[in-house]
Amino acid sequence: MIEVRELTKRYGRVTAVDGLSFTVRPGRVTGFLGPNGAGKSTTMRAIMGLDLPTSGEALVNGRRYQAIERPLHEVGALLDASAVHGGRTAFDHLDWLARSNGIGRARVLEVLDRVGLGSAARRRVGGYSLGMRQRLGVAAAILGDPAVLLFDEPVNGLDPEGIRWIRELMRALAAEGRTVLVSSHLMSEMALTADHVLVVGRGRLIAETSMADLSAQF
Ligand code: ADP
Ligand code: ADP
Repeated sequence: MIEVRELTKRYGRVTAVDGLSFTVRPGRVTGFLGPNGAGKSTTMRAIMGLDLPTSGEALVNGRRYQAIERPLHEVGALLDASAVHGGRTAFDHLDWLARSNGIGRARVLEVLDRVGLGSAARRRVGGYSLGMRQRLGVAAAILGDPAVLLFDEPVNGLDPEGIRWIRELMRALAAEGRTVLVSSHLMSEMALTADHVLVVGRGRLIAETSMADLSAQF
């Protein structure tokens, strides 16, 4: 469960998020739909404890991210797939994450296989395609078997097979009872992935509706 309460984030004069409140429930894919600049990434970064809110709060399972002892076990996120240091191998990257969260090496290997990077795990990430980087980002997100998952524009730059793969993965994670929040600026993408949608614009919540109801309006 994710709870965002009266969240506001300003960068100088820019108000990226403006008093946003919503709850994301488990067991379904919740879409976070809005144009570029609407504040989706900023909200996700606040949930992940990467940005300090100007006011308000974002909670994961009732706690701020900073108060979660072993975060990978509770919340995983695919935020910016280009963020991994290119000189490392995928295995080294995940193993480093795993060690700081008390996760064993067997799990690292299992997750690499699961995302289809088993045979590429010992290659440096600098030589990876965007699709492979996305898969590595997903591996990091699911490494700790978390109940809450965030995906920020996960299909951007992927080929059709990669897009299908990531959509199916998100649906499977929700079907297992996890809380899944996925952002997109494309209504067409949301229609293929989300069960429930939060529509945002200029840092505010414009509508909250089932995907079926939203589609019926277009
Ligand atoms: P979205 O993810 O919906 O595209 P963002 O959260 O990335 O929206 O951005 C919301 C607004 O905040 C935009 O106007 C963006 O330019 C601004 N913004 C985001 N991050 C920063 C930052 N680090 N510094 C200054 N402005 C930022
Ligand atoms: P499958 O074993 O069903 O073929 P895939 O190879 O497509 O699965 O990988 C995605 C699967 O991994 C999904 O069913 C997803 O729910 C599952 N999964 C994701 N995260 C975890 C996790 N942390 N622990 C166990 N399974 C997970």
